Amino acid sequence: MAFTANAGQEAYYPIENKQNRSLYEMYQKALQQWDNLYLCGRLAEYRYYNMDGAILRALELTQEILQKEKVCLAANV
Ligand SMILES: Cc1cc2nc3c(=O)[nH]c(=O)nc-3n(C[C@H](O)[C@H](O)[C@H](O)COP(=O)(O)OP(=O)(O)OC[C@H]3O[C@@H](n4cnc5c(N)ncnc54)[C@H](O)[C@@H]3O)c2cc1C
Repeated sequence: MAFTANAGQEAYYPIENKQNRSLYEMYQKALQQWDNLYLCGRLAEYRYYNMDGAILRALELTQEILQKEKVCLAANV
């Protein structure tokens, strides 16, 4: 990622580097205790998305959740 916010600037973009990735992975690991918490989007996944990518990711995750719900519903029958 080319953009790095300087002091006083808004950090609009996720900056992909080793330090930020390992910090993100630490948060992600801490959140794994909630199996009904889904991370989706630029901030939640700390990943660069354009609008089309963000929407595609939301649709894919919705599909995953619906599949999981189907499995849960089937297990409860
Ligand atoms: C300056 C700029 C220019 C861009 N130009 C383009 C472009 O020309 N074309 C293009 O395709 N894409 C562009 N993008 C990218 C596009 O804006 C993003 O891909 C898209 O908005 C990502 O959607 P998102 O839902 O992942 O995140 P966001 O749109 O950032 O949504 C995150 C939401 O979560 C909310 N939120 C944050 N923290 C919390 C919290 N703790 N609790 C509750 N809510 C919270 C925020 O208020 C926000 O509403 C641009 C982005 C920026 C910053």
